Amino acid sequence: MFSKTTFTITINPKIPPRLERLEELANNLWYSWDRATRMLFSRLDPVLWGAVGHNPKAFLKRADESVLLKAAEDPTFLTTYDSILSTFDSYLYEPSQQDKTNGLQPKDQIVYFCFEFGFHESLPIYSGGLGILAGDHCKAASDLHLPFVAVGLLYRQGYFSQTIDNQGNQRAIYADSEFDDLPVSPVLQDDGSEIRIKVALPGRQVTVKIWMVKIGRVTLYLLDTDLPENSEQDRNITHKLYGGDKTMRIEQEIILGIGGVRALHEMGIRPTVWHVNEGHAAFMIPERVRILMRQDLDFASALEAVAVNTIFTTHTAVPAGHDHFSDETIQRYFESFYHDLNITHETFMALGQTASSMDFNMTALAIRGSRTHNGVSKIHGNVSAKICQDLWPQIEPEENPITYITNGVHVPTFLAQEWSDLFDRFMGYNWRNKMCDSAFWERIHDIPDHMFWSIRQSLKSQMLFGIRDRLAEQNTRNHGSDAHLDRLLKFTDPVNPNVLTIGFARRFATYKRATLLFENLNWLRKIVLDEEFPVLMIFAGKAHPADEPGQDLIRRISQIAHMPEFEGRLLLVEGYDLRLARRLVAGVDVWLNNPIYPLEASGTSGIKAGINGSINLSVLDGWWEEGYDGHNGWAIKPGPENMEAVLRDQEESQALYEILQDQVIPLYYNRSKFGYSPEWVKMAKHSMASLLPCFSASRMVEQYLKNFYHPASKQNERYASQHFSSAREVAVWKNRIRTAWHGVQIRRLDTPRVRACFNEVLDFKIAAKLNGLKPEDVIVELLICRQYKKTRLRNFSHFSFEYAGVQEQNEHIFELKLSPELCGKQEYFIRIYPYHTLLTHPLEMGMMVWL
Ligand SMILES: *Cc1c(COP(=O)(O)O)cnc(C)c1O
Repeated sequence: MFSKTTFTITINPKIPPRLERLEELANNLWYSWDRATRMLFSRLDPVLWGAVGHNPKAFLKRADESVLLKAAEDPTFLTTYDSILSTFDSYLYEPSQQDKTNGLQPKDQIVYFCFEFGFHESLPIYSGGLGILAGDHCKAASDLHLPFVAVGLLYRQGYFSQTIDNQGNQRAIYADSEFDDLPVSPVLQDDGSEIRIKVALPGRQVTVKIWMVKIGRVTLYLLDTDLPENSEQDRNITHKLYGGDKTMRIEQEIILGIGGVRALHEMGIRPTVWHVNEGHAAFMIPERVRILMRQDLDFASALEAVAVNTIFTTHTAVPAGHDHFSDETIQRYFESFYHDLNITHETFMALGQTASSMDFNMTALAIRGSRTHNGVSKIHGNVSAKICQDLWPQIEPEENPITYITNGVHVPTFLAQEWSDLFDRFMGYNWRNKMCDSAFWERIHDIPDHMFWSIRQSLKSQMLFGIRDRLAEQNTRNHGSDAHLDRLLKFTDPVNPNVLTIGFARRFATYKRATLLFENLNWLRKIVLDEEFPVLMIFAGKAHPADEPGQDLIRRISQIAHMPEFEGRLLLVEGYDLRLARRLVAGVDVWLNNPIYPLEASGTSGIKAGINGSINLSVLDGWWEEGYDGHNGWAIKPGPENMEAVLRDQEESQALYEILQDQVIPLYYNRSKFGYSPEWVKMAKHSMASLLPCFSASRMVEQYLKNFYHPASKQNERYASQHFSSAREVAVWKNRIRTAWHGVQIRRLDTPRVRACFNEVLDFKIAAKLNGLKPEDVIVELLICRQYKKTRLRNFSHFSFEYAGVQEQNEHIFELKLSPELCGKQEYFIRIYPYHTLLTHPLEMGMMVWL
């Protein structure tokens, strides 16, 4: 052996002055939705572009000087470069076409906290749907010119990358990111030094560094503890996304929630609207309360002031999906807080406790610390209202303050370039400003069928090329022969992409039932083994490394993919990430989703598929229950909620087989002499036209703005004015209500009538024992409706009683004169609940007495 030392040195190219703004392009995630920018880099050196994983910043540090010098002299390259920069500059600096910010005040600043963010594969700090959604929210906020910043953690190892061996075992690989290669940069102070903040953990102070990322016009701040001044253990806090145990999780959540608030404060950012996206970030609430209390506010008033401009969005449909921590854990991590908050451990615990558990639940904290709360689809809004009903114990779930805004996707990110070019041609350049205009999108039907189809085919080819590359790599690593690879690739011919292709790609969480398609293998064989009408199925996705049942799903898929009859017809592709997702959603013919109802909070991958002309076949759950109109795809109707799992799988898989066999396959293969099925194209067009305007992130963020951000900013102003006098008033009032409410009663004084004539005026009279409360502290209300059984409580007409004075025994009289507007048998209810004009939601106290 020769003994020798290896020295390494990296030589970075010098960017020629004519191309110096390439650095700017590489440092703004605008490139994650501007494909022209990505193409610009790729054109310089396609091989290197692939090798650096489509990361412009890493690319620029490794590109050959000669390549750059040549490009700097190449007129064609320079023309594209200049035109991209001019688009970039107008995106960043020109005033918005449609000003959506009116309603916000000049000083308004929205901040959005999330545990993960998915913008592009070059910034691997996301695991799945939640992160991508957060990324899309930021992108749409940038498009809408909102005064918006976001806060997250910079994970050095991110989520894992995945390989799958021949037996279907998933291997999770965690690799360190080189932060110099990521599109992030440290936040600097005026003197050029980096900003550091401190966060207390038991027995120590952890130092946190703040990075920033540009997302178009929006800035994302990322917190990082991997610093030499921290202990090894603390440096690990921001290493892995969803990687550690409970201790790691609470420390990450403290860094995000508490550290995030301090970071903003340190940078001089003073948000007026705070959005907590999923419970992980909810520790921001006690920290903000603590800071406010320095302005001479008591705990209760400060909590009111904090909650009133806080929005909380929940994303899971199962209680087990909500993070919770034990009493001892909270004691250990928060005892130093109690003094500053001037409360006991018990009061702090109560912020996170629910009727069903003594643990400290992050969702409960988030709800108590916010006044606007939402799920992410209509179904999920209802499910969440039920899961969280304890927080408003006397209010029926359908009336409690949990509402919903259905998720959307950032269209420029997920819509293939081919489509936007075609839209430019057929719909005019203005289509980007018509994102939510349903009538406008009907113009998709004006695109000639053959053009529409040729784009579908071209996207499918590109997808198949990508799949073949990945499978080849996978095969080599798993020591497969070339012959084996040939067999695998039999049905993925990019030159002739004429095999009906079904895609299923998402996290392999068990409720998503990735193996539902294998419920009855004989039936499946009959469907897909047809020589004349072949079917190709492509599966991809990651299972959380601690999720054994999830990994079993991968093994099962792999096992079936290895059965001789399915080989080549069922492909399991490893390494699902944003890049593969973009390819798949655009390229497959059918996007399959068959979760267990009602557990798919929203789902977004089907939207991405739908806007690209791929057709959804999905259980009516999450967004699809709203998106499906009977003609834009196929729906599996879920069995009733309490159905036994085995039975449900049987029934729903049967529906799936029937749809495939009777509808999907015949429709696809019913080809005209031009080589495609006109009816298929019609459905694909209709799917695009119906989904694009309704499920874009623009629509979503505009709703957040109008329904939540505007009102929160207004409430904030009301509560904070005159040294928080309204916050104090509400806190005192709520306390008075809480003390007295148990003694509040109502009884009826008039004699109920069973029959009356139309136009007759009925006199209702109620006596209320208010237990020391004042008549103006309550609303006495009558709700009336025909046919209660079919009508939900919120469809009842509401009428308030008028106060009519006091009678003996301190009973307060309330009267209502009502002449019912409808004829026929009607039902009505009478109730009383506490009310104050400063409340954000009329029922936010969660208290109510029915007669
Ligand atoms: C959109 C997306 C998801 C979310 O998919 P669902 O079908 O909503 O679960 C997950 N991962 C990636 C990479 C995505 O792009």
